[in-house]
Amino acid sequence: MNVEKHLEEISAKLAKRVDTKSCFACGTCVAACPISRLTGPETYHPRRVVKATLEGEAATLLAEPTLWLCTSCHACLEHCPQKVPVSELIKDLQNLASSMGITPEDIVAEVENILTTGWALAPSEQANKKRSELGLPPIPIDNHGAKDLQKIAKATNLQERLEKVKQRKAEEEQALSVTEEGGGMS
Ligand code: SF4
Ligand code: SF4
Repeated sequence: MNVEKHLEEISAKLAKRVDTKSCFACGTCVAACPISRLTGPETYHPRRVVKATLEGEAATLLAEPTLWLCTSCHACLEHCPQKVPVSELIKDLQNLASSMGITPEDIVAEVENILTTGWALAPSEQANKKRSELGLPPIPIDNHGAKDLQKIAKATNLQERLEKVKQRKAEEEQALSVTEEGGGMS
């Protein structure tokens, strides 16, 4: 995978849709962003993503877990006076990161839950127990819908990406255990 080439493609795609240089750093996207409000702009700052891309430094964002905090609400795009597609830029960077096997574990868990149960948060035994106490039926599992989603995941290489993320994680853990073993030797 040629990361540089992918990043160039992302920049070219952006440039085609809108002149990203038209961003005048007004910060409206940050003020409009619910995640920025929740975490504080020092943690999550959509304008920084635009700036890093403009300066050719978007690669530094790929391993940032905060890249995945974006909810794709598009408030940044809607409020931007220059119509810079900030949210689409973030989505492109997430796609690039996931194609490299860089995706936070909780995102992978959510995707796997959706593919097996149809729910992002898999129904827990505890939740069903509480429902039963309230006289409610268990949370339904949408097997049929999940099977359709599995077909989509296969056709779009999503399944392959999930495997790649797991493989990368296993390699990282193995490298860490070798380092720790080495550190323990005298
Ligand atoms: S709102 Fe638009 S112009 Fe303003 S900083 Fe954000 S991306 Fe740039
Ligand atoms: S799309 Fe992402 S970056 Fe834009 S406002 Fe929503 S959460 Fe923030």
